Amino acid sequence: YQKTTIRFCHLPGETRDGFQIKVLANIELFEEVAQVIDNGGEGVGLYRTEYSYMNRTELPTEEELYEEYRDLASILAPSRLTLRTLDLGADKLISHYGALDESNPALGLRAIRFCMRHPQMFKTQMRAILRAAVQGNVSLMFPMISGTQELRYAKDLLQVCKQELAIEGKEFNPDLPVGIMMEVPSAVMIAEFLAKEVDFFSIGTNDLIQYSLGIDRTNRHVSHLYQPLHPAIVRMIKYVVDAGHQAGIEVSVCGEMAADPFCVPILMGMQVDCISLGPQAIPGIKRIIRRANLQDCKQLLKDVLQSSTVTLTNRLVRETIFKSF
Ligand code: PEP
Ligand code: MG
Repeated sequence: YQKTTIRFCHLPGETRDGFQIKVLANIELFEEVAQVIDNGGEGVGLYRTEYSYMNRTELPTEEELYEEYRDLASILAPSRLTLRTLDLGADKLISHYGALDESNPALGLRAIRFCMRHPQMFKTQMRAILRAAVQGNVSLMFPMISGTQELRYAKDLLQVCKQELAIEGKEFNPDLPVGIMMEVPSAVMIAEFLAKEVDFFSIGTNDLIQYSLGIDRTNRHVSHLYQPLHPAIVRMIKYVVDAGHQAGIEVSVCGEMAADPFCVPILMGMQVDCISLGPQAIPGIKRIIRRANLQDCKQLLKDVLQSSTVTLTNRLVRETIFKSF
């Protein structure tokens, strides 16, 4: 793959006073990698791997997945590729398992829970990831973790995969970094425990907002209540960032908030290590980062944490952007 033009978006995500924030991309399809590179993405912070399972009748084989992940890792190397394990269920179903009869799918057999119900399928994917991680810079991430038990189950199964691959004499990366999505409020409240058991956190604000505010992210009747800058959400993100940093692990934000010009200055104030967003939004967000000052973002965050309403928070953000960017 040949890069065609070099633009300012290929410069690092760095504020005027030297604070660096890595700008990564969220992708759903292999083909999007070209757009990531063109738009100045410094790697993939979230590969929604479930899309390779959708719109087909048979499950992909380990070999198919291995080749897909290996090629993606090689194209991106030395930049990172973060493979999120399957987030199926809720609105993302596959014909292989048929429709689930659930009255609240978002609260049902989704993501890690779906994988725990189908351990063979889960193992196939983890084996493919472990093998692909021999190439490039690959990390694995589990979605929708709500507590330590799920995390330990998933990590134990990963361990089993490593043992099996070793016995079979297949090459794999034994040191594959393992992180989790922080997108369920219960996980946020025990962030300091979880931080001791993983290599990184990635905050999924789309689901965190849905589950914290009790607003279905796909229901247009309540979309006006879906507020990223709700004081509760800002506090939860801050809590996760601080708990992660205290434990010495990296914290990123990969939900839509990372692509929102009104939210990014607040995330910078918290000194998140990376943000991951749709490739098309990267140039605009990099422009904001490169015009900002960390000191102003820190002051903004301080003021926002004192604000009890979204209206006031929005005003504070607007004033900061107007004054300093
Ligand atoms: C999120 O929940 O914020 C997220 C990034 O994951 P998804 O949108 O795939 O649920
Ligand atoms: Mg999510």
